Amino acid sequence: MDKQELVRGLSAAVGAENVFADEQTICESSKDYIGFRIFERADGKSFAPRAACVVRPHTVEEVSRTLRFLNENRVDVTPRTGGSSVTQSIEPVEGGVILDGSAMSGILEINETNMTVTARCGTPLEYLENALNERGFTTGHFPQSLPMAHVGGLVATRSTGQFSTLYGGIEELVVGLEAVLPDGTVVRVKNVPRRSCGPDLRQLFIGSEGALAFVTEATLKLFRYRPDERWMRAYAVADMRRGLEFIRAVMADGYKPAVVRLHDAAEVMMVLGMSEAVPEGQALLLFLCEGPRAIAEATGDAVAEYARKFDAADLGGKPVEAWFRTRNDVCRTLDNGLYHEMGVIADTCEISANWDEIGNIYDAVVARLTGEVEEMAYAGGHASHCYAQGTNIYFTFAFMEEKGAQAAEADYMRVVAIILEETLRRGGSVAHHHGSGRYRTRFMPEEHGSSYELMYRLKDALDPNGIMNKGVLLVERK
Ligand SMILES: Cc1cc2nc3c(=O)[nH]c(=O)nc-3n(C[C@H](O)[C@H](O)[C@H](O)COP(=O)(O)OP(=O)(O)OC[C@H]3O[C@@H](n4cnc5c(N)ncnc54)[C@H](O)[C@@H]3O)c2cc1C
Repeated sequence: MDKQELVRGLSAAVGAENVFADEQTICESSKDYIGFRIFERADGKSFAPRAACVVRPHTVEEVSRTLRFLNENRVDVTPRTGGSSVTQSIEPVEGGVILDGSAMSGILEINETNMTVTARCGTPLEYLENALNERGFTTGHFPQSLPMAHVGGLVATRSTGQFSTLYGGIEELVVGLEAVLPDGTVVRVKNVPRRSCGPDLRQLFIGSEGALAFVTEATLKLFRYRPDERWMRAYAVADMRRGLEFIRAVMADGYKPAVVRLHDAAEVMMVLGMSEAVPEGQALLLFLCEGPRAIAEATGDAVAEYARKFDAADLGGKPVEAWFRTRNDVCRTLDNGLYHEMGVIADTCEISANWDEIGNIYDAVVARLTGEVEEMAYAGGHASHCYAQGTNIYFTFAFMEEKGAQAAEADYMRVVAIILEETLRRGGSVAHHHGSGRYRTRFMPEEHGSSYELMYRLKDALDPNGIMNKGVLLVERK
């Protein structure tokens, strides 16, 4: 189907006012924030594929009609809502269609009795959170991309937030949802606290990255908003290993601080700019406890006790307050061209593993990044989402790119491959919360092992024509 025919067909299905075929809308709608794309854009280049057009539906019926038309005509479709992807997950297939849910915005219900909120897929998280805060509630979900991400994308990526150690990831926060399958069928998984009626169908869509269905609505848990009852304290520990042991003890003993962050010495200096507050070469631990005052205080008291046990120096609350104030600022400067001016590609890459391997992964990755990659200007990392079983490491890195934008993707993948290879070698997961997107797809067979076949069977069952977000999660079969 050529572009004109496609635009005509979509206009007939959902109204011409919802179909956009201009260059600017197409480029803006497929803009991804993976490090090498940011570098390419600052260099005035674009190597990302081009969609034929963008559809912005306003209702679930319009989503259904759009997908039915695209499915019948075997046209590739890439869903998106907030557009804060950092994994090439919203880059379209050449000549395909971008299905943009950002116009489907709005809170449908705040149910104070059941402690739930229902919002449409295009509802910006920041708007949702502010509206809830005014009524004394919170979602407890604070990804750093809070000013950018929307409800649909948060669900579809299996996202997690800075307070996840207490509230959990989005997979624990979604109590029900509505989605549209590629053939236009609308399905709803109802809102109940728990049930035992077969596998949990919510989880089919949470983390499906637009490859199985389009999420139109989600019902999330609510928590009481208690910003004045927070306990904050920072500690310096000898190194990352010692810090990881400290966190393991807190989590294994059953305490649930809301925020637990362990930054290595490189990040203390280069990312947080706190080298004056932390003894040279040491790692920094940040804790924030919240909830009913008695629980927050008891959790804080326990953390202080572990600090004594692990010889951690008490740095007071100020470093936590400073992190808290500036924690999402990066969202405003992503495309300011600063790294490009410095000639570097900078980015992050998050993995997870059990306690018995996470320290080994951290050591091996940092040793290889600094030892093997000549152009490496900086490599560090932090743990920020903690469980009784293990934690994540969010590696941060910057390397000199002297060959220009043409080489950016290949050089970037060489660096990232080191992180993902070392993680897989030790049984960890290659993606703690950003998702597979396209850049991690080639690591998915090893990530999933023998269960990877299930992913294809799910894909064949829900999307037999393979139109949904081709290239994410699934390696294309020959
Ligand atoms: C500065 C920055 C900080 C970040 N920090 C975090 C963080 O702390 N935690 C975290 O988890 N992530 C983080 N991210 C990544 C990103 O914000 C998350 O993945 C977020 O969940 C994406 O939401 P979105 O609405 O922007 O989705 P998009 O970017 O629009 O889409 C992301 C993926 O979801 C799919 N999708 C989107 N909408 C739908 C829909 N309605 N139905 C089906 N599929 C859909 C897309 O196809 C794509 O695969 C960060 C990103 C940036 C740029």
